[in-house]
Amino acid sequence: MSEHFISIDEVKTHAYALGFQGCGASKAEPLNMERFYEWTKKNYNASMSYLNNYNDKRADVKKLVPNAKTVFSFFISYNMNNNRNEGKYKIASYALGYDYHKVIKIKLHKLVNTIQERHPDFEARVFVDSAPVMEKIWAQKAGLGWIGKNSCFINRTFGSKIFLGEIICNFTSDYANESKDHCGKCNKCINSCPNKAILPNRTIDSNKCISYHTIENKGNIPETIRLDNYIYGCDICLENCIWNKKAKIVCTEEFLQRKEITCLLSKAEEDSLEKSDFNKAKKHSALSRIKFEKLKSNIQSCNNNQNLIK
Ligand code: SF4
Ligand code: SF4
Repeated sequence: MSEHFISIDEVKTHAYALGFQGCGASKAEPLNMERFYEWTKKNYNASMSYLNNYNDKRADVKKLVPNAKTVFSFFISYNMNNNRNEGKYKIASYALGYDYHKVIKIKLHKLVNTIQERHPDFEARVFVDSAPVMEKIWAQKAGLGWIGKNSCFINRTFGSKIFLGEIICNFTSDYANESKDHCGKCNKCINSCPNKAILPNRTIDSNKCISYHTIENKGNIPETIRLDNYIYGCDICLENCIWNKKAKIVCTEEFLQRKEITCLLSKAEEDSLEKSDFNKAKKHSALSRIKFEKLKSNIQSCNNNQNLIK
């Protein structure tokens, strides 16, 4: 029996119709994990010990999806004009709209269903930043862009305000050439990080990163960590990336700032934030990764370290 095949153009046509701006394919083969292992060995993953689990699946997608032939990578931009609250406290722009995990999973499942109408033997699993899938490495192999010095994934046209997702399937396809790196001699992200969390060898030390401390750190945030009024995530190195200055502006309705988030930020500024405000904001939001108590503690930490802000 001949091998099942789907052309990348067919997948792209359906993906673009669903709102994706990038789509590429790479052969499902084992990955070189040396850099990742080195990163965790040096404890740059801080308390995120779960990143030591499932390394067998991370290194070889066939251990995750046994009949895997191809990893399709997709991206969708959230680089929108005026999509930022100008008040005192800040939330990373990726978390201002609806939860990207849900939005993209729904789109990828629709895509699989559409493909299956023409190719009934197409078997696939979809992933969005959830299982041990090295999504940035796969996207680079699929020719969609490269992993910048700040560890964000960057596309030459859309910059790095993009969400990635994958379909791992039993069909072969047209495989792209791996993208080249276009950071060059730029060091803008490294110089912009208020805590010097971006090390010269393209490594993020999570122990110093605002994003880690405001989301993942279950303990107290050290007083020496500058938060620059971020109460969830951090956009500083992203905003300073030269590729985001010239990135194409999009309007992806699902990722526009929700009114519940605007309300949460205003109430936080007025010091009248209630759990009910948080519960409304976290519904269908990436904010649901933290509890109300953590958000309150982040706000307190921001207030405590005002003297660290230039
Ligand atoms: S997300 Fe913020 S704290 Fe983390 S490396 Fe980038 S600028 Fe630094
Ligand atoms: S700011 Fe410069 S070095 Fe940093 S990720 Fe962007 S292009 Fe690369």
